[in-house]
This record gives sequence, structure tokens and C-alpha cells, in this order.
Amino acid sequence: MRTLVMKFGGTSVGSAEAVAQAAMIVQAQAQAWEHLVVIVSAMRGVTDALIQGARTAASGDEQTYPALVTDLRVRHTLAVAELLSDAEDRAALLKTLDAYLDEFATFCRSVQVLGEVTPRALDAISSLGERMNARIVAARLRQMGLRGEAVDATELIVTDRHFQQAVPLLDATRARVEARLLPLLADGVIPVVTGFIGATADGITTTLGRGGSDYSAAILGAALDAAEVWTWTDVDGVLTTDPRIVADARVIPVLSYSEVAELAYFGAKVLHPKTISPVIERGIPVWVKNTFNPTCPGTRIAHEPESTPGTVKAISAIHGLSMVNVEGRGMMGVPGIAARTFAAVASQGASVLMISQASSEQSICFVIPTETVPDVIAAIEAEMALELARRDIDRVWAMEDVVIVTAVGAGMRGTPGVAARLFGALAQQEINVIAIAQGSSECSVSLVVAAAQATEAVRQLHAEVINGR
Ligand code: ADP
Ligand code: ASP
Ligand code: MG
Repeated sequence: MRTLVMKFGGTSVGSAEAVAQAAMIVQAQAQAWEHLVVIVSAMRGVTDALIQGARTAASGDEQTYPALVTDLRVRHTLAVAELLSDAEDRAALLKTLDAYLDEFATFCRSVQVLGEVTPRALDAISSLGERMNARIVAARLRQMGLRGEAVDATELIVTDRHFQQAVPLLDATRARVEARLLPLLADGVIPVVTGFIGATADGITTTLGRGGSDYSAAILGAALDAAEVWTWTDVDGVLTTDPRIVADARVIPVLSYSEVAELAYFGAKVLHPKTISPVIERGIPVWVKNTFNPTCPGTRIAHEPESTPGTVKAISAIHGLSMVNVEGRGMMGVPGIAARTFAAVASQGASVLMISQASSEQSICFVIPTETVPDVIAAIEAEMALELARRDIDRVWAMEDVVIVTAVGAGMRGTPGVAARLFGALAQQEINVIAIAQGSSECSVSLVVAAAQATEAVRQLHAEVINGR
């Protein structure tokens, strides 16, 4: 059974023209594959608007969310008017969309009365964009004579109760996917599934984290034993760096799973960081392609491709971070300091992006999202109260506004001198490297630089280490 799973991101379905274009791509692939499953994101900006409505309502603002409901109604109505020519189909679809928008308004009203928005409520609210768009895309496919049918991923992807960042339970998901999708596929239907969302075993809506539709596609690809997963976006594939920072970033034709996992983890927005995990075990190739340039082959992601020793393939950056330092001469050789430090960090639910320890053992430093710094420092100070009183630890402090810049490429593995080349390139521009760490997969090296120098650092590394290799 040859199954293709294709995901269309927010810009690929961000306007009537884009939806029409995406539907043409579906039509073309429907002829080439035995079975086709389509995953869609919300239209571009819709998830942001839904979240904004919820948050403003929670802060007591009664004006913003009704205005957002009106905006979304206008936007969806205009899109439907362009996409569907049959008046009856149009009216039926608009009625469905209106019901979702009414739901949005009702949720926001409750949030406003309560004066707070829980993660669970945010998930229910932010799921509406995908629900609406799946209906729009399915209707467009039907108008083209294809058997598109919207399916909510709440019926397919079973997750834990970790609202906002839910973790899929793969065995349960597989069972649901087989029960719900296989009969549709056998019947020649093209399921149009909502990205980004799932539900707990008892049916409460969850989301997989922002940008999670890529992850949804990989989860469904694995559950269906798909031959391939294609994610359609608005650039030609995974590029050598963020095209918004470096205009001449180029497409990378082939990447390994580990390379792309490092890139996504360290900030390349083109794929959600967890996308690779469901497909890696089954070796399902993932392609990243451009909806607006579909003849360009894009990037193929699979098991280790050939890598040229010494080469760096891409540079990524992750912003909004701070570096926490735990310092003190008395830390030297004392067992358990690191373990206690990171237990204190974990107790605050903060994720540590990078760790480095000076070999003198006089400091431990690690990078965390800036908004978690006050709680993390307080937790470490509480944990180390005795050591601080004894002056074994001198201070716990944060350097704010840092950026992790990461160079990725399996060719760096076992090749000496790569870090030296990175340092050399930055030194030429007098960019100070605050800390350095190498990923355990050895296919990435991460450098911490001040936020004010981050753009320059990315441009310089791209120019010297990628273009000038
Ligand atoms: P989608 O809505 O299709 O999921 P996203 O906006 O989430 O699209 O991701 C695509 C965007 O990621 C691109 O438009 C580009 O600006 C940005 N991006 C950042 N780094 C990279 C990279 N290395 N390669 C490609 N795109 C990147
Ligand atoms: N619509 C969701 C978001 O904006 C998921 C996605 O686009 O992948 O985060
Ligand atoms: Mg995305």
C-alpha cells in the first residue's frame, strides 16, 4: 500500500489563491499515489489571532475578541467566496465556519468572566483555526471532483494531558488512525486532517505546541506506515540559514534525520523540533517543498546521507534566551552540585537548551528561555542556600539577551578544526563567543553570543563557513 502524507502550512493555505494552489497539488498527487492523506494548518495568522483573543479576554478586555471574530469571519467568508462556486456548498460551509467562530466568541466570553485562561482552554480555543481550515480545503477538493473529507485529529491523535505541549501516545494513536482512516482510504476518500491538535484518551482537545502541524504529519505518517511525508511551505526547502536573515540562503538537497533534528531544535522554524522522532524508526523519508514553486524538488530528509568531511550544511539561531551561571571556588570537586542545580531548574519546568562547564569546575553555565530566569534563579538559590552561606558558591546570576547560534552538518563529526573555523570567522568581525557546546550527535556545534551580535554572527558564519567552504 503506497500512502503519501502531505502537510500544508499556514502560508500554503493562507489565502484563497494559496488554498487553490494547494488543492491543485493534492489533485496531482492523488493520481500518483494509491492513498493520500492531507494535513492542514490554520490559515496564516489565525492561530495567533485566536490566542490573542483568549489572552486579551483574560485580562478583562471586552473589545478585542469581538473585533477578532469579525476579522476572522470576513477573512474566511472572502476565501470561501473565491474557492466555491456553488451557492449551496458555499452557504453550508459558511454555516459550519460561523459555528466555530461563535464557539470562539463564547469561549472568550467565559475567559473574560473568569479573568484567566487555562492551558486547557487555550488549547480548545487555538484548535479552531485548523478545524475551520480543514473544512475549507476539503470543500475545495470536492469542488474539483476529489473526495475530500475533513477529519479532526482529536479523533486520531491520542495525547497525554500536557496542554499546550501534549505528547502523543503512539500505540493508541495508531489504533485510532487505523480504525478511522483506513476505511476512508480504502473507499478512495482523501482525508483532510487538522494539524497541530489531538485529544486526551477521554476526548479533551490538546495541542502539540506552536508549529505542531509538521509533527502531526509525521505522527500520521508513522501510524499509517506511509511511504513518504511531504511538508509544503513557503520556501524551497530547508535552507542553509534563515532566509529572513541571509537573502542568499540556498536549498539543502539532502539532510539526515539527525541534522534536521538539530537544526529544528536550535531554531530553524521550517520544521517543528519533534517532527523527526515518529518517522525515524521506520525510516520514512520527509520532504520539505514549496507550495508556490512545486517543481523545485525541495529537501529530502532520511537516514544518514553521504557527508563530506568537514562541511557545515546550515546555520540556525535561537533567540529569547539567557545564560545562567552558578559560580564559586568551593564547587571544585564537590560531587552532586550539577545534579542539584539541574534538579532545581527542572522543578521550575524550564527547558535547558545548552550546558557547558568550565574545566576548572568553578562554574556551571546553561542557557534557558529568558522568561524562566527569575524562578530558576530563586530555585537554585533555595537549593544551594547552605553552599551560598558558606561561600562555596559565590553567586548565581544570569546574563540576559543571548542567542545560541548553531552550525549543523554530519561532516563535522570527527573532523578536527571545525570549531576553530567557526571561532576564526567570528573573530574576524570581533564577535565575542560567550560559551560553546557540541551536540551529543556530534553533528552540531553551538555558540552563545550576545543578542545584539546574533544577526551579524549568522551572516558571518554563513558567508565564511558555508559559502566560503
Ligand atoms: P509553515 O506555515 O509552512 O509551517 P513556517 O513559517 O512555520 O511555515 O516555516 C517556514 C519559514 O521558516 C520560512 O518561511 C522561513 O522564513 C523560516 N525559516 C527559518 N529558518 C529556515 C531554514 N533554515 N530553512 C528554511 N526556512 C527557514
Ligand atoms: N497553526 C498552528 C500554529 O500556528 C500550527 C502550525 O501552523 O503548524 O502554531
Ligand atoms: Mg510551521
